[in-house]
Amino acid sequence: MIAYQAIIDELYSKINQEENLGQVAQYIPELARIDPNYFGVYFSAVEGESYGIGDWQRNFSIQSISKVLTLSIAYRLLGDTIWKRVGVEPSGSAFNSLIQLETDKGIPRNPMINGGAMVICDMLLRELKNPMEEILQFIRKMTLNNQIDYSDAVFQSEKLVGYRNIALCNFIKSYGNIENSPEEVLDFYFKMCSIEMNCQELTQVFSYLVNSNVTNAAGEQILSLSQAKRVNAIMQTCGFYDESGEFSFKVGLPGKSGVGGGIIAVHPNKYSIAVWSPKLNAKGNSYRGMKFLEQFTTKTELSIF
Ligand code: GLN
Repeated sequence: MIAYQAIIDELYSKINQEENLGQVAQYIPELARIDPNYFGVYFSAVEGESYGIGDWQRNFSIQSISKVLTLSIAYRLLGDTIWKRVGVEPSGSAFNSLIQLETDKGIPRNPMINGGAMVICDMLLRELKNPMEEILQFIRKMTLNNQIDYSDAVFQSEKLVGYRNIALCNFIKSYGNIENSPEEVLDFYFKMCSIEMNCQELTQVFSYLVNSNVTNAAGEQILSLSQAKRVNAIMQTCGFYDESGEFSFKVGLPGKSGVGGGIIAVHPNKYSIAVWSPKLNAKGNSYRGMKFLEQFTTKTELSIF
């Protein structure tokens, strides 16, 4: 038996006392106002053990973590056809980079970078009457919390200054890989990034990637085993943008970060763990989150490798 709780307690208090480096996301004014000292962790094992410490009950902006959820909904609805419009290669560049899109003719490298997530949003806008409601319902059913919603303040704030994302979406549209109007796609994209929940809820939502037999409220499997494996593979190789190799190297789990300071990591068939601390490193990933997870998989001697 691994003493998960003791390891979490020890690492939490150790890292909490060390210097908290980095900066909270500055380019979204509403996110820049957050208290940088929040630090929460929630761990949930398949075998039933679960444990939270610090600010695990406080809601935060999940930002790019939502990209895994829209990808999963699109994959479930459309199957492998989605890979015609978005790739599965790590980009090795920043989440909001435009560089590769020109050479790749508007096909984003993967669904974890902004451009790729926008193409997925575009697919969902075509497939679903109200995709935002659909993703919220999905989350509410997985967490049994009907209050979960997006923050209108964060949504408006990002939309107001979203020049780079607006450019990205229009650039992809110029290659014909966005069908709807960029305004519509961006509204959906910004809203999904503004969804808020706490660390515990994040582990509940991601349970279908820990165990693909997890069902939704209607008793249906969310993704097939093969699809769940692939989504995990994409998180493993692309979930941290140009720090994905580093995360694999140091943590060794599929995971996804967001500029709200959250990170979710899953160990298929074993556990999921969510860490939230708003200060980001230079690559836009939570400074303490990366540090905590690296030491967690070292101490537990468990990783997928
Ligand atoms: N909403 C953010 C953006 O598009 C999400 C980025 C992130 O979390 N990495 O810039």
